Amino acid sequence: MAKGDWQRKVAEWLRGRQGPDDLAVFCTNLAIVAVLVNVFAHTSWLGWVGLALIAYAMFRIQSKNLGARSRENAAFLKALGPARPWVQNPGAAWRELRTYKHARCGSCRQKVRVPRGKGKLRVTCPKCGAKFEVRS
Ligand SMILES: [Zn+2]
Repeated sequence: MAKGDWQRKVAEWLRGRQGPDDLAVFCTNLAIVAVLVNVFAHTSWLGWVGLALIAYAMFRIQSKNLGARSRENAAFLKALGPARPWVQNPGAAWRELRTYKHARCGSCRQKVRVPRGKGKLRVTCPKCGAKFEVRS
């Protein structure tokens, strides 16, 4: 069977289903970590946790109850808070961390992003207009 044929079959099967959303991908990755740790730690329960996570991810991917799955995924992303970019796209989050520095405005606590390695920068707060210096 040709590769394109296989991809078309998967796309056909996924139609009307939730597919691999953030929560399903996260569960799968967590399951892989659990199984890998289990190889070294030899605990019986961690293997079962991994299996349960895979089963839950599979259930999410094939689910046709899109409303409920979307709500769960949104709640999951909200619960992640500041860790969200690290879960959704670790590569981009890492590049962001290496390229930019985050500082807070001293008067209104607004977060500002400045490029790294540019020495001392004079920043004007986009929210309240206060000026302050940031070592980048
Ligand atoms: Zn401010």
